[in-house]
Amino acid sequence: MTADVIDGKAFAGALRGRIATLAADFTAQTGRKAGLAVVLVGEDPASQVYVRSKGKSTVEAGMASFEHRLPADTAEADLIALVNALNADPAVDGILVQLPLPGHLDEQTVIATINPDKDVDGFHVTNAGRLAVGQPGFVPCTPLGCLMLLKDRLGSLSGLDAVVIGRSNIVGKPMAQLLLAESCTVTIAHSRTKNLPDVVRRADIVVAAVGRPEMVKADWIKPGATVIDVGINRVAAADPGKTRLVGDVDYAGAAGVAGAITPVPGGVGPMTIAVLLRNTLVAAFRNSGIALADDAI
Ligand code: NDP
Repeated sequence: MTADVIDGKAFAGALRGRIATLAADFTAQTGRKAGLAVVLVGEDPASQVYVRSKGKSTVEAGMASFEHRLPADTAEADLIALVNALNADPAVDGILVQLPLPGHLDEQTVIATINPDKDVDGFHVTNAGRLAVGQPGFVPCTPLGCLMLLKDRLGSLSGLDAVVIGRSNIVGKPMAQLLLAESCTVTIAHSRTKNLPDVVRRADIVVAAVGRPEMVKADWIKPGATVIDVGINRVAAADPGKTRLVGDVDYAGAAGVAGAITPVPGGVGPMTIAVLLRNTLVAAFRNSGIALADDAI
């Protein structure tokens, strides 16, 4: 069997097109653009790339981008004061504090300061709770993007066996909640799971969010399963001195067994920013009191 490739880049591109159309509708109705504020503390090179890319994508979608760059030694009180000012700013619909923060800043304290209705990353405990009890809220972008790809591929997920490898608050746990809400039978695996290959072999859906290059092997995959690879790992390339990105799944091997699989790069990665834009636009509609159909984006 050769798996179908789930083209996250193409899916994300189409999603961004729909978002741009709706963002224009929002501006026509309100006379302003939906706005995303991104806060970056310090000079972490990867974070700088992410923040630049988020700002560019926001503007391309017809929304307003507000970038706040603070020095690495920013006091927690000053960061919290900025978040409070953004909470109060009616031009700001979504607030994203880029993680990781420098070590002297407590991430949970800072995230807890964000108004949950502007928490477009879905990291606030109020939004984690809303997801757990099935209330509308904001869901972290990467797992929501994975769910969109799965539903596009499979339609109904009801009754399917899903294994999520990884239990982080930003990927594994919300992914499991989303799959449970779709009536999958969900197993969450982690570093203490016994006989992981056997656990994965049961799954119709495998979501790998571990951070270990090519850990999930072809013979762990049930024939025909749908494999979503969240991992982004930089490894040495064949050319000396060069590197390349690989996922958490042995793509070449797994593609011979799975029914469908996301590549790395070009699978889940492009979905994350597209869903961030989606969450920001949903926040803008909600915060402006304008009804938006659940399936609008
Ligand atoms: P974390 O490091 O927070 O979590 C990793 C999880 O994997 C933990 O729950 C850990 O278990 C589990 N784990 C580690 N080793 C093993 C093992 N040998 N067997 C089974 N489980 C194991 O990572 P994140 O959730 O933040 O990210 C996971 C991956 O996804 C990373 O590669 C990251 O770069 C990528 N990522 C990609 C995004 C995208 O946009 N595509 C966005 C976010 C992340 P335990 O809890 O027991 O320690």
